[in-house]
Amino acid sequence: MEYQLIRSARRKTVALQVSNSKVIVRAPKFVNTTYIDSLIKLKTTWLEQKIAQQKKQALLSPQYTLQALDAHQINKPSIYIDGLPHKIIIDFGKKCVIHNKEDNSITVILNPRYQRHGLSSDLVIAKVKSDLEGWFKESIESYIKHNLARYSQQTSLYSTSYKVRKYKARWGSCNNRGELSFNYLLKMLPNWVVDYVIVHELCHLKYMNHSNKFWLLVAQYFPKYQNAKQWISEHQAFLRWP
Ligand SMILES: [Zn+2]
Repeated sequence: MEYQLIRSARRKTVALQVSNSKVIVRAPKFVNTTYIDSLIKLKTTWLEQKIAQQKKQALLSPQYTLQALDAHQINKPSIYIDGLPHKIIIDFGKKCVIHNKEDNSITVILNPRYQRHGLSSDLVIAKVKSDLEGWFKESIESYIKHNLARYSQQTSLYSTSYKVRKYKARWGSCNNRGELSFNYLLKMLPNWVVDYVIVHELCHLKYMNHSNKFWLLVAQYFPKYQNAKQWISEHQAFLRWP
């Protein structure tokens, strides 16, 4: 059994301790390792029980993040939300997703029945992803609803309909029936960049291309459009679904 040995001149006795599921031995300077090894052997059952108990406890801790899952090559440590990298925290309780803007974290609370599968199980990972997807979709849907109406008023360009959906390689689209689509991963971008995407798609209702006239129209309603394009290209590597 592996252990960490901490020697101290002041100590008179040997103490065994289990901390973070690891064995720590505190011993006086004069005690030799043969004695410590025999003591560990004698206490193996007790130590193993203690380790198992602590491992189980750690699994129930809300501070378990996807960073732990990353070690298993399953996921990325962070995710972009509103243009900032966020930590993903998994917890168990009443099912919901909590966005904490103070410490840039997103907590996914799963039904306690997922607890027994372990945090790095495929089942839990898939559930965390689908709950996050739902939250992304819901959040960006309400943002787009509000701001599409606002920019339609400003530009006098109105789409026949719009929807929020999953796209692999684009942020939005406009077809020749005047229907707009937006990628729900826009939730990863800062609001002002989402506004640019909205204006960009609205301008396609007038010009179905990327001609000079099109960009002049975009610039008219969104003067900072170059900055928005730059933000997207600079962050491209992070704007992928984990
Ligand atoms: Zn375009």
